[in-house]
Amino acid sequence: MFKQRRCVSCGARDWSPCPQCVARFETAAPIAVDGARTASALVEFDGPARDLILALKYGGARSLAPWFAGALLADLAPDIDLITWAPTTRRRRRVRGYDQAELIACALGSVAGIRSRALLRRVDNSAAQTGRSAASRHLRPEFRLARPVESLRIALIDDVVTTGATIESAGLCLLGGGAKSVDALVLARTPTPSETQSRATRSSSHR
Ligand SMILES: [Zn+2]
Repeated sequence: MFKQRRCVSCGARDWSPCPQCVARFETAAPIAVDGARTASALVEFDGPARDLILALKYGGARSLAPWFAGALLADLAPDIDLITWAPTTRRRRRVRGYDQAELIACALGSVAGIRSRALLRRVDNSAAQTGRSAASRHLRPEFRLARPVESLRIALIDDVVTTGATIESAGLCLLGGGAKSVDALVLARTPTPSETQSRATRSSSHR
């Protein structure tokens, strides 16, 4: 049976994301990623953009990946040799059935005409960390190289950046392996608690 198109964020009978939701996306503030040649995020992780990314991440809305990849295309440097992503743990990938960062990276590769490949493996140290203090559980994620990266100019994709620890760790692993450069391209940047607070104040004063 024909399935009615609906916007994943607002439910409008339209493409997802619908133009009204896209118009409400907020351009992300600049981000910094240690070691990266350039680093940028597309949108703030807030409002409809947040709904859509959560739907892509946890709700099985894989069809959103090509849309976001198309939007990221403008931030892709012209000299990139290979596109990769900061992978999630194998455990999480198994539960969700896919890795959203991989979906975006592969969609970006096909729209840009550049090869996308898995270059990193995430070390799953969650089991080893059980029983440790809450503070030490927030150690930076660890990555290992899955294949040689020497002399490559790499675009590194991730979905959401909060502290930047994940993408920074992934980028430094690539550079440690001899990559020529790493450009960090992220879908969304999490606003800081004080920014979220000031936004809430602003929107309530408009009512
Ligand atoms: Zn919408």
